[in-house]
Amino acid sequence: MLSPMPLDLRRVHPGCVALLGIPLDENSSYLRGCALGPARVREVVASGSSNLCAEDGTDVGSDPRFVDVGDVELTSGAASIASIEAATDLLLAQGARVLSMGGDHSVTYPIVRAHAPRHPGLSLLHFDAHPDLYDDFHGNRFSHASPFARIMEERLAVRLVQVGIRTLNPHQRDQARRFGVEMIQMKDWRSDVAFSCEGPVYLTFDLDALDPAFAPGVSHHEPGGLSVRDVLGALSRSPDLRIVGADVVELNPTRDPVGTTAAVAVKLLTELAARLLRE
Ligand code: MN
Ligand code: MN
Repeated sequence: MLSPMPLDLRRVHPGCVALLGIPLDENSSYLRGCALGPARVREVVASGSSNLCAEDGTDVGSDPRFVDVGDVELTSGAASIASIEAATDLLLAQGARVLSMGGDHSVTYPIVRAHAPRHPGLSLLHFDAHPDLYDDFHGNRFSHASPFARIMEERLAVRLVQVGIRTLNPHQRDQARRFGVEMIQMKDWRSDVAFSCEGPVYLTFDLDALDPAFAPGVSHHEPGGLSVRDVLGALSRSPDLRIVGADVVELNPTRDPVGTTAAVAVKLLTELAARLLRE
């Protein structure tokens, strides 16, 4: 039922927003299941349970510039990471803005690798319970716990702003200091948070940034997180952010019995698509 959809670039055109599935979960550290994320999102979209209207009035679902291009074809290991970068690069070369759905968070490193050369001065806005800054995790440097270490080592972003963090340990604190990471930890969250940034921004959203009450369908439950409304409010208070690409990752349908989290993923993808269509 939840099977990949072959990559199809025929409807890609300059100015479109390409929805790209990345069914990869081999870099997860605790549970598998995120590879089913893209197919589950498509299932919810096709179910007719809701429309794809964003809160700013954009009807994403009926906008011909919004194109589902299917899934990246994956093998394993470094080859998969390379395939994700190549597919993203292909879309960017055709003038698309890329909205990706994971997959685990390891997918963000190759996606950002494709964006960085095309967007000098790129900053990252990263929502997550975890900083994902491990030098490696259990020996895996592509781990979903490590993408932002790779990104910052390669200087693919001038700023990394992390939001919703509530699992900081000594190693990741050191890494954050080493890379000059800016952090809005969950304990410091305020209801009037807004973001400002000079230059282009890539937004990456790990669904475990949200409280498990709102998004139980993730591999790592970290209580004390954001509400969906916290996130939407902060983004709407930041209208000048120039978002050039985005992803929503870590949807694990095997942990999402009644589809609550899949619905949240669709909601966030819809809002992000509207922002990308505005740019
Ligand atoms: Mn993450
Ligand atoms: Mn996380």
